[in-house]
Amino acid sequence: MGLLQGKVTIITGASRGLGKALAGRFACEGSSVVLAGRSYNLLKDVCREIHPPDGEAYPVRMDVTDPGSVNAAIHEIVERYGKIDVLINNAGIPMVSPSEDLAYENWKNTIDTNLTGVFLCSQAVAKQMMDRKTAGCIINISSTFGLSPVPQRAAYCSSKAAVDMLTKVLAAEWADKKIRVNAIAPGYLKTEFIGQLEQQGKLDIESLKKRIPQRRIGHPDEITGLAVYMAGDEATYLTGAVVYIDGGWTAYGFT
Ligand code: NDP
Repeated sequence: MGLLQGKVTIITGASRGLGKALAGRFACEGSSVVLAGRSYNLLKDVCREIHPPDGEAYPVRMDVTDPGSVNAAIHEIVERYGKIDVLINNAGIPMVSPSEDLAYENWKNTIDTNLTGVFLCSQAVAKQMMDRKTAGCIINISSTFGLSPVPQRAAYCSSKAAVDMLTKVLAAEWADKKIRVNAIAPGYLKTEFIGQLEQQGKLDIESLKKRIPQRRIGHPDEITGLAVYMAGDEATYLTGAVVYIDGGWTAYGFT
């Protein structure tokens, strides 16, 4: 028996990277997984790669910045499954720019995706959980950069710091509705997210590794077990937590 047998989990931004790894792991644990995102064909391909022992992997179109798109997707999922147990707000974009040159559109797109998207999805899913009076769990994928201020990341760091606060507010507000809200704050992970920044010359991986006590970049598969724990029945007293999983990055005292 998997740890998430019979559950229905939505993962935003599941076409690649951490979202894809989370979808695969949750499926292995017995959950039906709904892979939500903008690239529908990619999502369909990922669903074909996932072979849930129980339940299914199902792709849904969703742009987390668009309230109409979010609500339509959640409606479709509830129609199909009759419930939602777990939401993982994973979709996110990086933004690196000197703050004096950061274009308004880039600031807005980062906040809309990384923060407003988390709020819109949480609100839509929580309403469904409340209507059905079912217990539920929301996991927000934050970042160590929500805690550590990093030059040229004004929009990204601000968005993730706000996600941490949103996590705590919603956890306090919805505790009596039996909805738990927690955040996972990863350090650097091997995904396209940092691959693109490296290619653009905006990230020097070798010097980064020197700042990480474990001297290495993490792998998405090293994050999924914590998410399974958070979503599972052993974490019933865990809410409002932001858990860092970063090879020691936030613990390290030197710059
Ligand atoms: P990737 O760039 O590999 O994947 C991001 C995913 O988000 C893609 O599936 C993308 O799909 C989706 N996405 C982006 N914008 C939207 C949108 N508006 N609506 C729906 N989906 C969207 O990133 P990672 O897997 O690395 O990152 C996942 C999360 O982890 C992010 O929140 C990120 O901030 C966080 N994180 C990542 C770290 C890292 O080092 N990689 C470190 C710390 C945190 P598409 O573009 O096709 O829509």
